[in-house]
Amino acid sequence: MIVMKFGGTSIGDAAAIRRTISIITKKMRSKPVVVVSACSGVTNMLHQLVDFTEEGDKEKSEKIISSIKERHKSTVDELASGVDPKRPTPDTTEINQIIDKLCNSLWTLSKAHMGGQIPDADKAYMISLGEYLSSHIVCFMMNALGVKSAWIDARHFMITSHDYLTAAADVHEVQKRAIGIIERSFKNADVVITQGFVGVTVEGDPTIMGRGSSDYSASLLGMVLDADRVEIWTDVDGVCTADPNIVPAAKGIGKLSYEEAAELARFGAKVLHPLSIEPAASKNIPLYVLNSMNPDSEGTVVLGSSCIFDGIKSISYNENIRVINIYSPKMINTTGFLTKIFSTFEKFGVSVDMISTSEASVSVTVDASAPVEPVARELGKFGNITVDRDKSQVSIIGKNIIGVKGAVAAVFDAVSDNKIYMMSQGSSFLNLSIVVDRPEMATVIRKLHKVFFENGN
Ligand code: ASP
Ligand code: MG
Repeated sequence: MIVMKFGGTSIGDAAAIRRTISIITKKMRSKPVVVVSACSGVTNMLHQLVDFTEEGDKEKSEKIISSIKERHKSTVDELASGVDPKRPTPDTTEINQIIDKLCNSLWTLSKAHMGGQIPDADKAYMISLGEYLSSHIVCFMMNALGVKSAWIDARHFMITSHDYLTAAADVHEVQKRAIGIIERSFKNADVVITQGFVGVTVEGDPTIMGRGSSDYSASLLGMVLDADRVEIWTDVDGVCTADPNIVPAAKGIGKLSYEEAAELARFGAKVLHPLSIEPAASKNIPLYVLNSMNPDSEGTVVLGSSCIFDGIKSISYNENIRVINIYSPKMINTTGFLTKIFSTFEKFGVSVDMISTSEASVSVTVDASAPVEPVARELGKFGNITVDRDKSQVSIIGKNIIGVKGAVAAVFDAVSDNKIYMMSQGSSFLNLSIVVDRPEMATVIRKLHKVFFENGN
């Protein structure tokens, strides 16, 4: 069995869906379990619908539901009219009824909560409908093309915690349910299609697992099914040495270790969801990142560390961060100071990315979206606080960086003209991160890329 996950752009319109179907049909012998995201942009529209509903804007809510409906129906029409002229035109009555039903349920919930707070389980249900629409359409089209495909509701097996909008999967419960359901579906079908991103509590309330989490759904499914491989199909040729939008000379990386991929995802690379590595890694299942717009490109394969050479693989970044500096002479020769500081971050649910300390000061970086002001106010109890805004974090990632001769010197050399606010080397020797002024970030990334990946290095 293999798990193939297709992201929003891989099923964004009729042409993309056709390409995706031809990729799936080439893998039929491997028993593909297909996990889909919502069509590109639809999850954002559903979030808007939730906002319009809570604001009590009936007109905008109605409008957004009808544009979601139109978009999916016109995709179905285009798909149905484009099938092989030798085949009978597929009957679209049933799929159109499904689309109507799903969009009606959106409207029912929107009307019921118009101008009020939507309970989180209902919100989760509404936001997850993009995956239901897309998975039904892909399944319809596969069958229309003569490929026996079974549609499965992920809520029959993806049991999660009760954090409705950012739910965590209960691996044990998923394992108990998924194998039987999927094996049974393969008795009458050659391909099984389900949704990423969506889950359900043990009591049956709808949940979702956070933005971008369908990569995680796929990897988890791969793990519980003991899949031969997990393929994440996206719109770029795998993981690159840098963001090609910043560095046009960026190249694809053929192989990465699970640890490197996790570090890259954590430090800003957007191709893989940070949680998606661990499940595959736990069973040593190869995880591929492939391009559905260019299926012949090799992409990136993520494997166990023993298959991967030491050295720098990629440069990633977080463009908008803040540095919080806590200066306290009281800290000298005392214990428990860091505990107090970190419990403040914990209290506000803010995660700290980088940290550096000296005798009398601590500096940490946090994402710019974090509630920096209240945290800084509370930290004020322990010392003088300054916050540096408009900073970016740039991270060089690779296995055993410490063993790469001259890496640190090369970094210093490359950025000698730039102001460096913080520098830290992760204890795992997988990353070396610096904090720079945001307007200089792109130049710094380009300089580092030149040193490590161009010039014949
Ligand atoms: N459709 C969801 C989102 O846009 C999940 C995903 O794409 O992975 O966040
Ligand atoms: Mg994604």
